[in-house]
Amino acid sequence: MPQQFVNTNNTQQRPDGKYNSVIADIQKDGVCPFCSEQLKKYHKNPITKETNYWLVTTNMYPYKNTKHHILIIHKEHIQSVTELSEAAWLELRRIYGDVINESNIPGGTMFIRFGDTRFTGASVAHLHAHLVSSDPDNGEYEPILTRIG
Ligand SMILES: [Zn+2]
Repeated sequence: MPQQFVNTNNTQQRPDGKYNSVIADIQKDGVCPFCSEQLKKYHKNPITKETNYWLVTTNMYPYKNTKHHILIIHKEHIQSVTELSEAAWLELRRIYGDVINESNIPGGTMFIRFGDTRFTGASVAHLHAHLVSSDPDNGEYEPILTRIG
């Protein structure tokens, strides 16, 4: 069985049918959408910050009800946090702090799915970190719900 870079089973609950078809197309292409060779093809939002280990951007398919949905993508293809260097962890901590300050985010949630996507709900296996924040002052506020397993 070839390496699976994406998991179409984990896109089903996303209300945006476009996302499901994008992930299905990537699966047919048999490539990793977050590796540098393919990132520009599949990810059209600008890279807002680049460090030694990470690229910072916004999610092209933000979860419903997010005000901010930032992705911090590890530059090298790894799939587990056990492969992260200490330097990469430290950089990630700094990036989270910088993004929260620069975007003036008063509260939010940070998470990283890692490893076998059957256990995580991730649609892309390449290690990336999320920062999501809701919009409670919006009159149509609803909570952010997503799958983490
Ligand atoms: Zn990759």
